[in-house]
Amino acid sequence: MSYGKSLGIVKTQYYQIDEDIELEIGNKLQKPTIAYETYGTLNEEKSNVILVCHPFTGSAHAAGWHDGDDKPGWWNTIIGPGKPIDTKKYYVICSNVIGSCKGSTGPSDINPDTGDFYALSFPIITIKDMVNVQKKLLDHLDIKYLFAVIGGSMGGMQALQWSISYPSMIRNAIVIAAGAYSTTQQIAFNEVQRRAILEDPLWNQGNYYNTDSYPEQGLSLARMIGHITYLSNDSMREKFGRRLQDKDQFSYNFDTEFQVESYLKHQGFSFTKRFDANSYLYLTKALDYFDLRVNNSLEEGLKSIKCRMLIISISSDWLYTQEQLEELVMVLNSINVDVSYSKLNSEYGHDAFLIENGQLNYIISNFLSKARVKDVMSKQVLTLSVNQGIKEAAELMLNENKTHIPVLNDQNQLIGIVTAWDLSKAIAKDSDTIDEIMTKDVLTCYEDDSIYDVSSKLKEHNISGLPVIDSDNNVIGIITTAHLSNLIYKD
Ligand code: SAM
Repeated sequence: MSYGKSLGIVKTQYYQIDEDIELEIGNKLQKPTIAYETYGTLNEEKSNVILVCHPFTGSAHAAGWHDGDDKPGWWNTIIGPGKPIDTKKYYVICSNVIGSCKGSTGPSDINPDTGDFYALSFPIITIKDMVNVQKKLLDHLDIKYLFAVIGGSMGGMQALQWSISYPSMIRNAIVIAAGAYSTTQQIAFNEVQRRAILEDPLWNQGNYYNTDSYPEQGLSLARMIGHITYLSNDSMREKFGRRLQDKDQFSYNFDTEFQVESYLKHQGFSFTKRFDANSYLYLTKALDYFDLRVNNSLEEGLKSIKCRMLIISISSDWLYTQEQLEELVMVLNSINVDVSYSKLNSEYGHDAFLIENGQLNYIISNFLSKARVKDVMSKQVLTLSVNQGIKEAAELMLNENKTHIPVLNDQNQLIGIVTAWDLSKAIAKDSDTIDEIMTKDVLTCYEDDSIYDVSSKLKEHNISGLPVIDSDNNVIGIITTAHLSNLIYKD
């Protein structure tokens, strides 16, 4: 098989968290397992990580191919070499949310307390819980911050939640077709879908795993309803019109008449082969509870956001409407978040974020290419005082594995820089003090400088690191070629 411009074969990995997770509503989830996939190469400073959050029925398998499958990952159009989330530049992580049935712990897994399937003994989870569990995975992978977090629909809610729950970890967030709270209409549609499952007698209070029955009808109906909300009137008319299914005239009975009926039935039933009915219930509940407002105020709820944000709406989405996303943009603007807003012009409705790769390519690449020094620099900088000796400098370099050490005066202002190259000078010249060996004419940058300008500056002067200073000449970070590797490359 030819995989085209794709990642080729990829594999899902599993991580079992070694502790119980405290959930938002006060209960616990015992040592859950997280399924995840990674694509691309992590650079030396781990500054090129993009976390992709999946929509409601998605999985960790966002891109590339699983051996033997006839379909690639759910966002293969967007993630891969040369694609909007370019795996030649970024190290991409996607994990399956808890409560799902795609490898992370959910209601179809065994409850360690009972030895039986969780079913309804699985705790109620929220979007915040999903994010907290992803954070455990990042801790395990020793990822300290994210160059970007991105997601559409339920993935967009997670991206928003990440920016609020872990503001100092997130440098850029991209939210597509998701609002800051579930609207009445969204909750209403979720409830109708749940009812379809709950009222299927084969659902059996969620206890169907060790029986021959499965609430296939209910789950299929839920998916059919959901699917209508993900499409638009125009795209349905375009695709099916009023064409009949395998007949020339009406039968005037309740058999399948129209192509759209047949299509929805097919969608519904094929979905029952790949998704668990209880997971459907738990995840739609998590969507319903999602509300970032605090004391009825979105400003209050979003005020901890520090990262740059890109909000993308879809012109024909009637479930997560343009108006809802524009309200979010307005509030972000009002609290001085650095926010950009784009609209996908598409007929495909809510699902457009899975389809419109051309427009997404332009919008996402444009946003991410404007990366600044503060998106990738290290904020933990080791510095030396001019009064310290050469030996201390050498020890610091060796023990902390640092290549560039800024030297500060008594007022904490930058007055020099020392590298291993300077230490070798110390031996040659038999110098004792930092002052004698440091470079005093230090080249620096600001946190809002573009990483492309910084990269040129480093090349031009044949050096590999720049202290990042503020307007008072205080060092607030450091950026080296290791932070920029992968992010700046020549095609
Ligand atoms: N590429 C190596 C590096 O960046 O250290 C070696 C090149 S360069 C010949 C080494 C000299 O550059 C050292 O004396 C060091 O103090 C100096 N240097 C490193 N970073 C600097 C910076 N940001 N501004 C000025 N000089 C710097």
